[in-house]
Amino acid sequence: MSDRAVWLLDIDGVLNVLGGKPDRRVWPSRSWRRFSATDASTQVTWPIVVAEPVAAFIREVHDSGRAEVRWHTTWQRSAGRIGAQLGLPEFEVHSAPEFPDGRYDPEWWKLPGALRVIEDERRPLIWTDDQATPRRIPPSQYDRVNRFPNLLIAPRDRIALTRRHLRAIDRHLDHLASLA
Ligand SMILES: [Mg+2]
Repeated sequence: MSDRAVWLLDIDGVLNVLGGKPDRRVWPSRSWRRFSATDASTQVTWPIVVAEPVAAFIREVHDSGRAEVRWHTTWQRSAGRIGAQLGLPEFEVHSAPEFPDGRYDPEWWKLPGALRVIEDERRPLIWTDDQATPRRIPPSQYDRVNRFPNLLIAPRDRIALTRRHLRAIDRHLDHLASLA
């Protein structure tokens, strides 16, 4: 069993700035990449706006083996198309049998998958998801996903990941490595 952290990575609101207006105070103008991507399951095409330093950080974490990055996003099997546009390697899509497949899902489908990393795989969890807030996650489970050795980061969906978030992930990975 690996004790390497698993980083569950969402796309919309985390990599992709929602609303299509990147904040140039967060990352400078030249950092932003714009393209569009089609969800293979719905055939709907969406605008994608991602800061290149965020993609570069994720690539570095993967390449250095500091964490195992997996997609955990409604994009599901289409996530790799967005990753490829950003020059990211192929990441696994985290297993999510709860994925609602278009149906309304009163229990948030992403939470059980995140908890399985902790409870079944027994690996440290890094979870970046704009919706992973106390409004969405019951208090007892929120404490589990947000307590060391786990790290929860819920960016604002119109800002996505910032330097401060990347620093927090970097420090967390350093801390985990120092305990190994
Ligand atoms: Mg999201």
